[in-house]
Amino acid sequence: MDYELARKEMVESQIKDRGIKDTRVLEAMFKVPRHLFVSPGDQDIAYGDYPLPVGEGQTISQPYMVAWMTEALRLTGEEKVLEIGTGSGYHGAILAELAKLVYTVERSSNLAEKAKKIYEELEYRNITVVVGNGTEGLPEYAPYDAIVVTAGAPFIPQPLIEQLAEGGRLVIPVGSIHLQMLTLVEKRAGRIVKCEVGSCVFVPLKGKYGWPERSDDS
Ligand code: SAH
Repeated sequence: MDYELARKEMVESQIKDRGIKDTRVLEAMFKVPRHLFVSPGDQDIAYGDYPLPVGEGQTISQPYMVAWMTEALRLTGEEKVLEIGTGSGYHGAILAELAKLVYTVERSSNLAEKAKKIYEELEYRNITVVVGNGTEGLPEYAPYDAIVVTAGAPFIPQPLIEQLAEGGRLVIPVGSIHLQMLTLVEKRAGRIVKCEVGSCVFVPLKGKYGWPERSDDS
């Protein structure tokens, strides 16, 4: 299996052709070895146009979704970024290619450990994985220039808005358990500006400012 070729095709047909223009995002998607973040048995389909299960009832997002959310953050390389929902660790690696510092919070210690190991192997030194409830954000290192939530929320958790820097961007799927609206939130002169960018389906964001812990089987 030629993973580099599969990655090139993924970027061309799934990402570029669907309108993602940020060349830094395209380069990061071409660079990060997505097949290392999926289950060993799924490596050959890692570059397909769909999400895949990664254990604990969770999924690695579809490549296009990762590109779309990341482009909306408008990263230049100088930012401190917070990701809620490390999952496989793939999206965190893309963010680490595009920003200065990345903090990623995962409620499953099992998934967090797996992601940490991959980051060590790939020698990412600007990502910190934290086990915890991301609906409360990560106040220790706030404020963040960009925040991305990769699980579906019933509403925008207030702590995330508070931890967003002036001029910062927050991307979060908001809606019901089964269908959400990808929402871009910007803080401008202390005011919150919201814009809905399209519908999406994510696994639930659980915890204090999310869905109840027992809201499904995962
Ligand atoms: N970004 C991931 C996909 C995430 S799937 C990737 O690139 O693979 C969503 C993740 O959010 C799951 O791993 C789930 O365990 C996690 N999650 C759900 N609620 C959470 C919460 N309150 N805090 C932190 N992580 C949470």
